[in-house]
Amino acid sequence: MESVKTTGMNPKTVLDKVFGFKEFRPMQEDIINQALNNEDAVVLMPTGGGKSLCFQIPALVKQGTTLVISPLISLMQDQVSALRSNGVPAAFYNSTLNTAEQQDVITGVLSQETKLLYVSPEKLMSEEFSGILQSANISFIAIDEAHCISQWGHDFRPEYTKLGFLRKKFPGIPVMALTATADKITRQDILKQLKIESAHVHISSFDRPNLNLRVEQGTDKFKKILTFVKKHPDTSGIVYCLSRKECEQTALKFQENGYNAEHYHAGVPSAERAAVQERFIKDETPIICATIAFGMGIDKSNVRWVIHYNMPKNMEGYYQEIGRAGRDGLPSDTMLFYSLRDVIQLRKFAEDSGQKELQLAKLERMQQYAESPVCRRKVLLNYFNEALEEDCGNCDVCKNPPKQFDGTVLAQKALSAIYRTEEKLSTSALINVLRGALNQQTFDFQSIKTFGAGVDVAYNDWQSFIMQMLHQGLFDIAYDDHNRLKLTESAKKVLFEKKAINLVKQAPKEKEPIEPRGRAKKPLKREKPIKNTLYEELRTVRTKLATQYGVPPYVIFSDATLQEIDETKPQNKDQFENISGVGNYKLDKYADVFIDVVKEHFLKERSKGNSYKLSIDMFNEGKTIAEIATARKIQETTVFSHMARALDIGMQVDFFKLVDIETFKLIKKSFIVNGREYKLKPIYDHLNEKVDYGLIRLSLSYLRGNE
Ligand code: ADP
Ligand code: ZN
Repeated sequence: MESVKTTGMNPKTVLDKVFGFKEFRPMQEDIINQALNNEDAVVLMPTGGGKSLCFQIPALVKQGTTLVISPLISLMQDQVSALRSNGVPAAFYNSTLNTAEQQDVITGVLSQETKLLYVSPEKLMSEEFSGILQSANISFIAIDEAHCISQWGHDFRPEYTKLGFLRKKFPGIPVMALTATADKITRQDILKQLKIESAHVHISSFDRPNLNLRVEQGTDKFKKILTFVKKHPDTSGIVYCLSRKECEQTALKFQENGYNAEHYHAGVPSAERAAVQERFIKDETPIICATIAFGMGIDKSNVRWVIHYNMPKNMEGYYQEIGRAGRDGLPSDTMLFYSLRDVIQLRKFAEDSGQKELQLAKLERMQQYAESPVCRRKVLLNYFNEALEEDCGNCDVCKNPPKQFDGTVLAQKALSAIYRTEEKLSTSALINVLRGALNQQTFDFQSIKTFGAGVDVAYNDWQSFIMQMLHQGLFDIAYDDHNRLKLTESAKKVLFEKKAINLVKQAPKEKEPIEPRGRAKKPLKREKPIKNTLYEELRTVRTKLATQYGVPPYVIFSDATLQEIDETKPQNKDQFENISGVGNYKLDKYADVFIDVVKEHFLKERSKGNSYKLSIDMFNEGKTIAEIATARKIQETTVFSHMARALDIGMQVDFFKLVDIETFKLIKKSFIVNGREYKLKPIYDHLNEKVDYGLIRLSLSYLRGNE
């Protein structure tokens, strides 16, 4: 493989020439310089924050080989293929290699040709590998996903705890530990176990401003999802579901609606799981309905949206999952469905978890987030001990602030119903009692005073209000007694001491399109998005190249790079080089192909743009409208519109050959009478529908160009 020579280069030059980026992100430069000074570091940055460059650039600048320790084979493969696509000599050493391939890797390392070698902790410990390392020139060690070392983290891997031996085995070689998990215990564990107590600790902001945050009531979920995906055609996204069954059902619903979607969960055989993941990465299957296991080992940068079909059990998990969207920094969407049913289920899990107090407390924070009447990003970052000064403007609360109102009377009605039925009501039964809906659930309670007392409030609204009351501690849910609602002391204050309760009613969200009525709905055919834009053409070429080189499309160029090509339309290599994400290697390899696409696009546009000129030329040469239409195989109305366009911009056209002077005079008079408005219909009406629309249109264009 041809490769770039970077040893001894300045980091900024490497950033530009190898990765094609012009500026470092905050903190990257300091971290890199410290590594070049052989200092240890712990780097905490959110997913998509740009951790990789922090060790990849020092690896390239330093002599010798950098060891990168990574827990997942798929992550290693992803990173190595991304590095190679930039001409960087990188390799991985893991159980997927056959003997010959292993030998190749070893040769590369021993000759110091390989600048980055990715290994799993298990391989690193193995005897065979120790032998190789003896003779290699290892100059730097990076430990990716370093939180796996801590039992307190959410992704503990016992093999990681053995990494403490690195310090002994490689004395004096600097170590960089990187993770997206910010909590204090984990951080201290990393320092202690790796024996790098004096390391620099870099903690970047955990804010991901490009992620739009949105919480929806958990009703009509799939309808809401459809509305969403219709607005985002041809994009990749993940729908996280709590159960395997729900994954499968949701994927099926997508398919029934004409979308290409698959499911992914622990029950799917592992070969098939890998295939699903592969198809997602390659943009072949855009939508995956998955349990939380999906997405851990992938670096796909162009996941445009993440939807939580069910509520996650804590904020850490939630943030990690939504963090899989928009790694390329482009605007991306997240949507969380919040329902009482999920809360009840998650509470049960928490109670049976053996860590009841902790899990319940974490769930409560999650619930507070979902119910927040203030900017959600504030709540989220606050959870990770980071204060956001101003409202973010990119969450549903900021965009659609809810209004608080005095909900005391509503609360009294609900609590009284619970009280009068001797605390026998589940949530749905309570709503049905309040709304006076007679069914099996409510049959016994139709004589109580509050039966039907809340009929004026919609079912969904009641659901939301009851959730808020629960959250304000007015009742508990008895999981051991048919999920019946049991009043608390606070409830008594509302019922008997007139304690005031505030509730929030979300302003109505965007209107959903009306779905066809009736059961036997035909699968909706998705409207095909128009494919003739330059961006689509660029995407097609990217996919072709990806197939040709056997890498995911985003490894060829990220969505961000593609967008920049679309916007700047580079027509030569100098212009192409300026695009973010284009390093020297990709410049040589892909510039010509993409520049051709841009040029071809220009040609097409121009011929489209020139079409009317051709008609004008023919007309000025003496051809009639009918003759032009026949000769050019276009409609007469199109020829008329060409004439009108030429007149609009004041081009020389023999107008009075198109409209005779008397007719024009009539039209002009009518135009003036009608208040000089450039509207066809009033003139048409004024002239008693006797003059053709085409002639009026031409006359108005003439007037516009000549008045
Ligand atoms: P992390 O490992 O922290 O999740 P990555 O290292 O994968 O994040 O980086 C996320 C994205 O940001 C990648 O597409 C990467 O190419 C891009 N990126 C990183 N640093 C820069 C930079 N200085 N300028 C522009 N893009 C960058
Ligand atoms: Zn906000």
